[in-house]
Amino acid sequence: MSHATSYELFINGKWRAASNRATLPVINPATEKVFGSVSSATVSDLDEALASAERSRKGWSSRPVKERGEILVAAARILATTAGDAAKDLSAEQGKTIAEATGEYARAVETLEWNGTHAEGLSAPIPLGPNRMIVPEPLGVVAAFTPWNYPVVLIARKLAPALAAGCPVILKGAEEAPSAAVHMVEALRDAGVPDGVVNLVFGVPVHISRHLLSSSIVKVLTFTGSTAVGKQLAALAANNLQRCVLELGGHSPVVVCEDADLAQAVPAVSEYKFECAGQSCNAPSRILVARTLYQEFLSRMTEAARKIKIGPPDDPLTEMGPMANARRIEAMQRLVQDAVDRGARVETGGTRLDRRGFYWPPTILTGVPKDAKVLHDEPFGPILTVAPFDTMEEAIEEANATEYGLAAYFFTAAPSAKRALIGGLSAGAVSVNYLKGVSADAPYGGIKQSGYGYEGGEQGVRSFQSLKMVNGLGS
Ligand code: NAD
Repeated sequence: MSHATSYELFINGKWRAASNRATLPVINPATEKVFGSVSSATVSDLDEALASAERSRKGWSSRPVKERGEILVAAARILATTAGDAAKDLSAEQGKTIAEATGEYARAVETLEWNGTHAEGLSAPIPLGPNRMIVPEPLGVVAAFTPWNYPVVLIARKLAPALAAGCPVILKGAEEAPSAAVHMVEALRDAGVPDGVVNLVFGVPVHISRHLLSSSIVKVLTFTGSTAVGKQLAALAANNLQRCVLELGGHSPVVVCEDADLAQAVPAVSEYKFECAGQSCNAPSRILVARTLYQEFLSRMTEAARKIKIGPPDDPLTEMGPMANARRIEAMQRLVQDAVDRGARVETGGTRLDRRGFYWPPTILTGVPKDAKVLHDEPFGPILTVAPFDTMEEAIEEANATEYGLAAYFFTAAPSAKRALIGGLSAGAVSVNYLKGVSADAPYGGIKQSGYGYEGGEQGVRSFQSLKMVNGLGS
């Protein structure tokens, strides 16, 4: 598969166009030009996907778990061999650098492998003393909705545990970066996933989610995207009481304590913040720095941000590519303008680059008043705010002054500060002297408006299982 192609739906084990042959354009964010298309599913296509997933359900759920796991491990190997070319497609569609796209494919491979390796153990009965046990059972057909920012690893984090648990899936891939879903589905098919067990659709998101979730065939909804859309989907899922896993937005703080090692903190923040042009749900967005270190941190952070090489994602020298779409550029403009109108100062960046492509530079804002939108709306782009704090209580209060609760980070070596921050920060994940945190083997999920449910690790598989309680075994 090469760049600039047309991507189709995968229903009941076959690639095919939409029944009315409708397509949506795929735009290269570095050139703003249409360079491909993706089929846009109709209601009858979705009905076929539902029927095919439901037909495959019994066969897949009753297949020995060991075999399900082996298929996932085989898919990991296949994806690893195609990842080189696939990463180029992903980079061209999404705008992330080839190195970032390659890293994302590696994490998708690891996720398939982890779930394949642990499939058997996580479907085994769990004894509760001599007379009782819990029997994990697959919940049934899953509707999975994945976004464009990490379009392959986020698919892996949904599909691999669902398949390991024994559930067929209807996946809505990201229309803006469709190749990732296509490569993933091909790897699964080539590894031996039977027809109907994985179906891939693209189309108008609101039409697809409304139709799939109105069907009683669907038993689980798993979604990654914005809080606003997550709430709409949860409301739709309420009608059929479909189980929901919602990985929504974030607005992650970094607390830099007075003993922090800036030689460690600044590169760590810079690297994780500007990966994927800041379009990560757990990217740091609000930096709170002990007043004694504030000026030094700000000057080093600004220098680091200015040094980042921005350019076409396929140029090996590029460190940050374009944003994924025009909507993100408009959002950056709105957030910066609002902050500046309220008195904030732009330390670096702040305006769209004057060249073709959705390029927005690393941007640092200081003196941002508390009512500025950038402190409340998820930036989802390369914008950081930096502010000083005087006491630990103030740092924790400011860090938690958001409706989101996905990730939080801090830098200190002091055990008492570590205890206070681990306990005090309201987030699904807290990382100490380290940024990142999502891995195949551990649960990851938000609190507050960042969603509910977990992806990753044992809990990621449990999301797709019912736990049948069996009593009176010794009777
Ligand atoms: P959006 O909210 O319209 O879309 C976000 C994702 O949800 C896209 O993949 C889209 O296809 C999907 N989506 C939208 N409406 C849907 C619906 N009714 N049913 C099913 N899926 C639907 O916004 P956008 O402009 O594409 O992205 C901007 C915002 O989305 C960002 O500000 C960010 O908050 C959020 N987002 C979050 C993540 C994440 O990793 N949590 C990923 C992508 C986008």
